[in-house]
Amino acid sequence: MANHYDVIIIGAGMSGLAAGVRCAYYDKTVLILEKHYMYGGLNSFYTKDGYSFDVGLHAMTNFVPKTARRAPLNKLLRQLKLPYEAFDLREQNYSEILFPNCRLRFTNNFDELVAQVRLHFPDQMEGFHNLVDIILSYDELNLQRKPVSARNIVSRYLSNPLLIDMLFCPLMYYGSAIEDDMEFGQFVIMFKSIFNEGFARPWQGVRQITSALVRQYRKQGGEMRMRAGVRSLKCTDDRIQAVELEDGEILTADKILSSAGYYETLALIDPLPVTNPQSNAGVMTFIETIFVLDQPPADWGHDATITFYNLGEQFRYRKAEGLVDVKSGVICSPNNYQYDRPLKDNLLRLTCISNFEVWQSLQSDSEAYYAAKERVIRQMIDAVEQLIPPFRDHVIYTDAFTPLTIQRYTGHINGAVYGAPDKVKDGRTPFKNLFIIGTDQGFLGIVGAMLSGISMANLHVLQ
Ligand SMILES: Cc1cc2nc3c(=O)[nH]c(=O)nc-3n(C[C@H](O)[C@H](O)[C@H](O)COP(=O)(O)OP(=O)(O)OC[C@H]3O[C@@H](n4cnc5c(N)ncnc54)[C@H](O)[C@@H]3O)c2cc1C
Repeated sequence: MANHYDVIIIGAGMSGLAAGVRCAYYDKTVLILEKHYMYGGLNSFYTKDGYSFDVGLHAMTNFVPKTARRAPLNKLLRQLKLPYEAFDLREQNYSEILFPNCRLRFTNNFDELVAQVRLHFPDQMEGFHNLVDIILSYDELNLQRKPVSARNIVSRYLSNPLLIDMLFCPLMYYGSAIEDDMEFGQFVIMFKSIFNEGFARPWQGVRQITSALVRQYRKQGGEMRMRAGVRSLKCTDDRIQAVELEDGEILTADKILSSAGYYETLALIDPLPVTNPQSNAGVMTFIETIFVLDQPPADWGHDATITFYNLGEQFRYRKAEGLVDVKSGVICSPNNYQYDRPLKDNLLRLTCISNFEVWQSLQSDSEAYYAAKERVIRQMIDAVEQLIPPFRDHVIYTDAFTPLTIQRYTGHINGAVYGAPDKVKDGRTPFKNLFIIGTDQGFLGIVGAMLSGISMANLHVLQ
């Protein structure tokens, strides 16, 4: 007889862990299955040559103080039964959107962004205020809304293409699975979480969050298995009858929550459904280079926390044609948060848009792959040097991860960081006891993934 659970969760990323805490707290028997040896999914960490690197953490969005009780961060902590202090968050210095001839600064105080828009785009102020009113009154948690183009809606309020692109740039980089546009609900979520709320970083990096979740999950009696990849989901008609692991073990559960991605989860169904599971997978993937520096960047004049830059005439958020597109990107300086003591390492991270297929074509030739990686790192150094001139002289070590690494650690088709363009807001699949959580449910990023796990557990397991 197979081991039986109330709930099996596929994936120990942010969404799987948060869903697990919720279900276990309400005395469900829960098992999280993770194919890797480490929990965290995209938000993991590793050590190399004596340095310790986070994989997917630039900034935690949605920062608010403890007193903002109705804000998503505090709601999420309450749902997880964690105190505000559990994530030990430190606020950003300031961030910036840097385009040719224009720079908008923003902080965790929204009024500063308003003042910057007024300074650089005075004729857009009325439209900007109206757009902000629409954003603040929009209920992004309504799971029934039909998707609409954010560019269409924003252009009803703003007429200056430069301002429109500058506002879209950070929101797309931190949360769009769609090329050159966003779904308006997603635009609202990202606008609120980045501009109205803000950025912070846990003092110990991403492990502060994942460890808090794992401790809480285990305390409630939740079970977790590493190196326990799910090979298939055995179905009859519209129900999943059993979960088969890579080693052939069979488990059963009343409900299954999957954070593996929508098409990726459908690809596990046995027998396979008739529809092609790769038909609408996402393509937006990135390459990230981490630079270790000999001094903190603030010592040579760079004190911005996150710099979203665009060097081209137009901002283009599309799959790169080659290995990398350095015309735009995100520079993150983990040292530039408001700490009470300095970080151990001096780091700078650069993320640029990439192309999965181009990297995949090099996969079988390791010499060509590593040579390409070296070339791309040099291109990325040149790009940062244009924006922060003394940068090159301070680099003492580099490491990079490509779309292939992202695919390996998430299982996402095409290494698509934000998953498929069409989101499954209510988490439902064609199978009555199988639900999607995390990236493809539609709440993105670290806070978004946790909210997704919590809300889908509440809706489909605990109601
Ligand atoms: C370079 C980079 C930087 C980022 N920076 C930020 C940032 O600064 N701020 C922010 O908010 N967000 C950031 N993100 C995004 C954030 O990391 C993700 O949105 C979030 O981690 C998604 O969590 P998830 O639980 O949905 O999915 P994942 O983290 O992808 O977790 C899914 C898990 O499922 C497991 N899995 C898949 N298939 C199977 C299977 N068959 N069997 C068992 N297990 C399986 C995977 O191994 C994985 O552990 C960044 C992402 C990247 C790539």
